[in-house]
Amino acid sequence: MVSTMDENSPEVVTAIQATIKASTLCQKIRVDLVGGESILKSDKSPVTIADYGSQAIICKLIRERFPNDTIVAEEDSKELRRPDRSKILEQVTNFVNVFVPASSSEEVCSWIDFSSNSINDRFWALDPIDGTKGFLRGDQYAIALALIENGVVKLGLLACPNLYVDIHQPFEEKGCLFVALKGKGSVQMDSNSMNQQAISVSKVKSPPEAIITESVEPDHADHLTHQRLAQKLNISKPSLRMDSQAKYGILARGEVTLYLRVPSPSEPGYKENIWDHAAGSIIAEEAGGKVTDVLGHPLDFSCGIKMKKNHGVVVTNGILHDVVLKALEI
Ligand code: AMP
Ligand code: MG
Repeated sequence: MVSTMDENSPEVVTAIQATIKASTLCQKIRVDLVGGESILKSDKSPVTIADYGSQAIICKLIRERFPNDTIVAEEDSKELRRPDRSKILEQVTNFVNVFVPASSSEEVCSWIDFSSNSINDRFWALDPIDGTKGFLRGDQYAIALALIENGVVKLGLLACPNLYVDIHQPFEEKGCLFVALKGKGSVQMDSNSMNQQAISVSKVKSPPEAIITESVEPDHADHLTHQRLAQKLNISKPSLRMDSQAKYGILARGEVTLYLRVPSPSEPGYKENIWDHAAGSIIAEEAGGKVTDVLGHPLDFSCGIKMKKNHGVVVTNGILHDVVLKALEI
């Protein structure tokens, strides 16, 4: 059965609670274990702890409320249960306890394993920390959760703990939650006050006025091809490099016009994971944007964990979509 949801539906209420808890947990881990610094090469454990903790909390809340739904997420507890990882498991459990009191390590592992990775008619796709490199650097990262029914994304949430609420005051309040429901638009909630406002993409019609966003990592996207496209379209404003699906959020609220993700020459055949695009794509689309792959095909979330049928991702304000696809043709 396909559900019709509104903002008071249990799916929406539970997903908001879960992503806000996970987002608060991730920020607490950053502050408690790292402070304001970048994490140095050797010890990446804070991101590991946050990744497992975020998945445990979200999977627990979703599965308790929706026991028949499956969850597709990146982690499982196999590695965490290894004797040499006992210190990490202890830390994950301690942090999860702040949000779910009296939970044991065994319970935490069992919640992580609620992710069965089976794609059903109705399932949730979760990236407990998207943009781990951004988390390590103290830049952007996101907690991304989406509900997919019969291959269609029906609900998407992106918690961006480090993203400024208002571009005009980038050093003021941080922490945004983007929520989109199929057919009902996208909103941005400020995760402290829970104030909510509808968002929409930019109305830029003329390519030279566009602003591009792209991954920070050259291995995740082809910066050179993006640069060539910018030259072709006379785009002179510098591209904004940002980690994680926060890129979809800033496009949905009109700050940038194009999010380009042409596969990197270091891995030209790369197939994207569904949890890296399901939540972000509905947030951009419901704000008036358009999302396809570089060939103009819609993103296909029905064929497994990998988006096997797609090649790269192009997100625009809709108005410029055809122009961009045309400029990408070789
Ligand atoms: P971003 O923060 O936009 O750079 O994207 C982060 C995501 O890129 C991670 O969650 C990875 O799943 C994904 N990723 C890993 N390798 C690649 C690759 N070769 N091309 C594109 N995305 C990748
Ligand atoms: Mg990711």
